Amino acid sequence: MKKIKNLTKTLIDNFMGRRPKNKTIIKKRGKVKPITLLRGMKDILPQEQVYWDYVKEKALNILESYGFKKIDTPVLENSGLFLRSTGKNTDIVEKEMFTFVDEGGTKVSLKPEATPGIVRAYIEHGMHNLPQPVKLYTISPLFRRERPQAGRTRQHHQLDLEVVGDKDPVVEAQLLTIAKSLYDDLGIKIIIKINSVGCIECRPQYEENLVAYLKKNKTKLCAVCKKRLTKNPLRVLDCKEDKCRKVVADAPQIVDSLCNECKTHFTKVLEYADELNIPYEPDPYLVRGLDYYTRTVFEIWPEDVGKSPSRQVALGGGGRYDDLVGDLGANNDVPACGMGLGIERAIIKIKEQKTDVNKKTVQHVFVAQLGEKARMKALGLFEKLRKEGVKVGENFSKGSLRAQLDLANKMGFRFCLILGQQEVLDDTILIRDMESGIQEEIAYAKVITEIKKRIKKAKL
Ligand SMILES: [Zn+2]
Ligand SMILES: [Zn+2]
Repeated sequence: MKKIKNLTKTLIDNFMGRRPKNKTIIKKRGKVKPITLLRGMKDILPQEQVYWDYVKEKALNILESYGFKKIDTPVLENSGLFLRSTGKNTDIVEKEMFTFVDEGGTKVSLKPEATPGIVRAYIEHGMHNLPQPVKLYTISPLFRRERPQAGRTRQHHQLDLEVVGDKDPVVEAQLLTIAKSLYDDLGIKIIIKINSVGCIECRPQYEENLVAYLKKNKTKLCAVCKKRLTKNPLRVLDCKEDKCRKVVADAPQIVDSLCNECKTHFTKVLEYADELNIPYEPDPYLVRGLDYYTRTVFEIWPEDVGKSPSRQVALGGGGRYDDLVGDLGANNDVPACGMGLGIERAIIKIKEQKTDVNKKTVQHVFVAQLGEKARMKALGLFEKLRKEGVKVGENFSKGSLRAQLDLANKMGFRFCLILGQQEVLDDTILIRDMESGIQEEIAYAKVITEIKKRIKKAKL
């Protein structure tokens, strides 16, 4: 039997053009130690992918309806990019970056956050020539040499959104709405902490007041904060050490030193947030650990954060960065605002809640509109439908009806509600079955009952 096996092997080897191996040169392999994952790194195994797909699908649905375009930037960038943007005195750049010198002698880093790369791309590809704002998103791995702990790994992934080229506080409102819609869709209850860190005009004065106060209390601060006092005093405000929190409780608050423009801007953001029912609470000590933020900063936390704050991590965060694009080399002022949402952290929450991620998302109704008056009315209708539990979509920023219907089709909506100027005058609305293409006019007052009836009938 063995002979036949050997003969077969020789035949196959000959057929394949291989020379029979000389047995004497095959060394018997001793026991080898397997090479394992690097500390803080993680594989995403096949059985995990369903969660990733679930989060991405929900995110893409929302982002598409808000007109965001995808961009991918490299994981490796010139280290100088992060030094100039994230800031050389931040924890990230000081101790958390994976940095090395490549063979050509260039100092390079794995990206610790998504914004700098996207801003670099915006400048490098002349995106200021496009209609502003440019709305971009990416889903990307990020690298930080942190002490691995719950919900933190050295490579993690973020959904990152950037709105570049718009200074209006409505941008913040839109980002907060997107965050709310996304976490709503994922079944995660959130609270958004929000603050203003002022601008280049008003922050220096505040920092001076803060440093003066902290110096008086220097002995009560932790060792790290004593150092921060000279390098990055704002960071003392969000130190998690108990003794520092006690000092900070009586520190001057930045909201009291904002210049008029910053004050108006922040008030507007909060007004929009109220109007849009964003679950938020002002947090006077929120500063975020990056150098480039101006005016609005925010963090998204699980709603139950109050119960065990030490065990929770933020789900995401972001803010405005009106000076960064200029600081990185743009010729003109380009105000911008963005946010990053942690995918692993969302998945931890989804698992905790035992959400059924295999359930296919059903899209019920898309609200399309044409003309200013119709848009106002459609906005109200959108909210009403949402509150009634109808899965509803819109794209109020797209002008053409055709474009809106195409989008509704692409996103798999079964019905479309169409409001034009004539319908507003007649107090009616068109209801279109996207499957049959049949379109009917109904009285506006009946729209909610009618749509619910149809959803039920279509067994959606
Ligand atoms: Zn200011
Ligand atoms: Zn401290």
